[in-house]
Amino acid sequence: TMAPTQQALAAAATAKPHFVLVPLPAHGHLIPMVDLARLLASRGARASLVTTPLNARRLRDGGVDKELLLEIVDLAFSPADYGLPPDCQNADKIADNTQILPFFLALHKLAPPFEAYLRALVPRPSCIIADWFNSWTAGVASSLGIPRLFFHGPSCFFSLCDLNAAAHGLHERVAAAADGDRQTHVVPGMPVSVKVSKGRVPGFLTSPGCKELREDAMAAMRASDGVVVNTFLDLEEEFVAGYEAALGKPVWTLGPFFLHDRDTDDTASRGGDKPGVSESAITAWLDEQAPDSVVYVSFGSVARKLPRQLFEIGHGLEGSGKPFVWVVKESELASPEALVWLEALEARTAGRGLVVRGWAPQLAVLSHRAVGGFVTHCGWNSLLESIAHGVPVVTWPHFADQFLNEQLAVDVLGVGLRIGVTAPVMILDDDAPVPVLREGIARAVSLLMDGGEERRRKAKAYGAKARRAMEKGGDSYEKLRQLIATFTYGTQAINMGTL
Ligand code: UDP
Repeated sequence: TMAPTQQALAAAATAKPHFVLVPLPAHGHLIPMVDLARLLASRGARASLVTTPLNARRLRDGGVDKELLLEIVDLAFSPADYGLPPDCQNADKIADNTQILPFFLALHKLAPPFEAYLRALVPRPSCIIADWFNSWTAGVASSLGIPRLFFHGPSCFFSLCDLNAAAHGLHERVAAAADGDRQTHVVPGMPVSVKVSKGRVPGFLTSPGCKELREDAMAAMRASDGVVVNTFLDLEEEFVAGYEAALGKPVWTLGPFFLHDRDTDDTASRGGDKPGVSESAITAWLDEQAPDSVVYVSFGSVARKLPRQLFEIGHGLEGSGKPFVWVVKESELASPEALVWLEALEARTAGRGLVVRGWAPQLAVLSHRAVGGFVTHCGWNSLLESIAHGVPVVTWPHFADQFLNEQLAVDVLGVGLRIGVTAPVMILDDDAPVPVLREGIARAVSLLMDGGEERRRKAKAYGAKARRAMEKGGDSYEKLRQLIATFTYGTQAINMGTL
C-alpha cells in the first residue's frame, strides 16, 4: 500500500482541477457565482459552491446542482448569535438597515466550518474563488496554502475608480468637505473624466461603522492571487488595463458569465423564494409583441420602493403608451392600498402591460427579441445582462456602484439615457419627496423606445461583441482556459507540501 502522501499525490495527478467558490449570499453576488461555477464545470473543471443552508436549499430546489454537475456545500450558519432571525441568510432577508452590519459579522463566522470542509478534501482544491466581501476566506486559504482569487461584482470601471479613490484619499476628503449632494469631486487617475458627489463616492463598506470590514476586505484583496470579473475586454478595455495596473495582480475578465446554454427555467435556477411568473408564461406573452417594442422595468433584488414612488412609475408607464413588463416586489405591495391601486392599473393596461409580482425571469426577458429597452437601477448584473442582449437602458441608479455604472453606460459606452436622479436611496424615507415623477418616467421611456437609434445600435454592437467573447477563440473563453490551466494540479504539485 502507498503511504498517505503518495496516495494523495497520485489522487492529485489524476483529479480534475477543483475550484471552490464562496459567494456573498445576496442575489447580485450569488447569481454570477453560480454562472461562473457552471462555466467552470462546462469546461471540465470540478466546481463546488459553498454557502449557507437557506441558499443551498434554494439552489437545490431550483435543480442547479443536477443540471450543472456542480456540488453545493452547506456551511453551518448561526445568524441568531448576532440577534438576527434564523432565516436571515441572504441579503433579501434583511429587514432593515440595522441588520446589515450583524449580517456581515455573522458571515465571518463561516471561517471555521469552511476550513473544516477544505481540510477533509483529498486532494486539496486547486483554487478558491471568494467574493470580495468574504475577506474571512483569506486566512483559511493561506493557512492551507490554497491559491485564492477574489470575485468582484461590479465593472472594472467601478473597481478602478474605487482603487484610485482609495489611493488618493478621496473618501476622507469628500467626507471632510462641507458640501451637499450637488458638489462634485473628480476621481483621480481615470482615463476619462469621472465626477462623484458626497453620497456617490466609489467603494463598498465606506460608512464609518463598517471601517474594519472594509479594511479586512482591502487586505484580503491585496493578499489574493488575482481577481475574476464578470465583464469582457471589448466592453471596457482601458479600464481593465487600468485596474490590473492599479491592483498589481491578474484581472481575469471571463464574462458575460450568463451567456451559456441554458436548459433550466431561470426563474427557478436564478431566483429567490417565490417566482412571480413562470418563464414559459412570460415568453408566451412576449412572443405576441413586435420586435424591440417592449420596455422592461426592474430595480434589482435589493432596492425597495414606497407606494408613492410605485404609483408614479405605474402612471408613467401607462402614460408612455408603450408595452411594458414591470417587476414589483412583494415587499412593495405590503399595504392593501398599493394592491388595490395595482389591480386597477393592471385592468387599465391589460394586454399592453404585464406586471410581475415577485421574482422575474430577467435573463429570459432581456434575451427576448420583443424587448427593446430596460429601465434599470444599474446593478452591474442587470446592466451587463442588458448590454449583452443589445438592449439600451434608462438609468435610474439607487446606491453603491450604481451611479458609476450609470456613468459608464451613458458617458462612456453611449447605451443609456439618464432618468436624472442624483441622490442615493435604498429605501425612501417616509417624508422624503419622490425622486422621479410620472412625467419624467413617461418621457424617458418614450425617448428610449422611439428615439436614440445610436444608443440601440451601440447596444447591439456590444451585444455581438459579448457573444463573440464567450465563443471558442473569444477573449473570455480563452482566458477561462488559461485560468483553469494556471490552477491545475500540475502547477500545484510544487506546493504539495500541504498534502
Ligand atoms: N433578478 C432576476 N429577477 C428579478 C430581480 C433580479 O432574475 O426579479 C436578477 C438579475 O437578472 C440580476 C440580479 O438578479 O442577475 C440582480 O443583480 P444586480 O447586480 O442587477 O442588482 P442587485 O440586486 O445586486 O441590486
